[in-house]
Amino acid sequence: MHITHFIWQRLLGMAPGEIQSGDTLWLLSPRQHMPLLAQRRALMLLNRCRLFAILFSVLTPAWAVIDLLTLPYPLSLQLTALRLLVTAAFIALALWQPMDGRLRSAYRGIALLFATPTLFYIASHLLLRRYHLEGLSAAIGAGYAFLPFVLLAGLAIFPLTLLESLAFASPVLLGFILAGLLDLSGANLPSFGGEFWLLSLLAGVSAIAGISQLAFIIVLVHQAIRDPLTGVFSRRSGEEMLGLLQMQAQRARQPLSLAFIDLDHFKAINDRYGHLAGDQVLRHFAALMLARLRRSDILVRWGGEEFVLLMPGATREQAAQVIARLREQGLGERPDGSGLSASVGVAELWRDDCADWCALVDRADARMYQAKQAGRDRVVSTG
Ligand code: GH3
Ligand code: MG
Ligand code: MG
Repeated sequence: MHITHFIWQRLLGMAPGEIQSGDTLWLLSPRQHMPLLAQRRALMLLNRCRLFAILFSVLTPAWAVIDLLTLPYPLSLQLTALRLLVTAAFIALALWQPMDGRLRSAYRGIALLFATPTLFYIASHLLLRRYHLEGLSAAIGAGYAFLPFVLLAGLAIFPLTLLESLAFASPVLLGFILAGLLDLSGANLPSFGGEFWLLSLLAGVSAIAGISQLAFIIVLVHQAIRDPLTGVFSRRSGEEMLGLLQMQAQRARQPLSLAFIDLDHFKAINDRYGHLAGDQVLRHFAALMLARLRRSDILVRWGGEEFVLLMPGATREQAAQVIARLREQGLGERPDGSGLSASVGVAELWRDDCADWCALVDRADARMYQAKQAGRDRVVSTG
């Protein structure tokens, strides 16, 4: 892991420590991206996809003028017809691309964006090989061979993981091989090999550019969504995540539990030992929780010494068990060496009949208050 981390850092030119070693896997595959990152990235991909589609829908028909002026009839007309078809596909993509922030829509958009010119490339190749062009028209005809290069260079504008870059680049490379196979002979094998090598290199460079964009996005998202003191999620990002988790839970009819955790008699720590000592207790508490929680659980600093723990997929009983286990293992120490305690309220979206995440937080907050009233250092998950 250390070696791969080192290589990534050199490769991406990132300052050490900016991207944590646990996050380098995120550069390889999108599987474990947290929902907030996934959604922002999907929107970014969709936006760029549309931009690309608009650009191509203007440039593709524009070049038809050059074809009509320089290429022989009927080749020029056939190519123009092809261009109009492709332009229609790009316009459709630009107009009907759903900007819903879902990764699946982004994948479909990029796949169509790359498939359209790849098919155009193969079709134009099939047409052009029937003619023996000379002079200016030969130069214009040869220009068509650059299309796969343009496409793979364009791949660099998308913040993609390594696996995604490979998945989008491979069909273009295959299309290039396919077109090459059509008129491959011993004579042009070396030049075809050279071009293919160049194209593969370009794909590699674009993949690195995409990964490095993604790395910067991950670092920025990390900084923007975390609370600087404890490193857990900030209230703002916690609310955003709650919105997403609520949607997911309602769509899949899965449980979503939430624990509202308020540290007991925290003000007394500040009063007796100073604010810095209080900060240290908060940091230690957060670090202990993060070390013990599952990857899917999300800890949010809701305010001062109040934390909210989101447990997607957990029933109310399971959530109460998680809290019981955490309390059993200890929440940290007060500066005088005694154990830190908390009052906790647990609620679940369906079980507590909450209309939305606000109601879920309110319900857990009310139960936390009941726990305080009942003498602190306890969990309330019913009533
Ligand atoms: P209770 O058991 O009723 O929850 O009592 P409490 O003292 O924990 O609750 P109260 O709401 O009266 O006080 C919370 C305190 O948390 C007050 C504030 O000074 C402290 N606090 C809030 N944010 C920070 C912080 O970032 N650092 C430090 N050191 N203290 C903080
Ligand atoms: Mg409080
Ligand atoms: Mg408190």
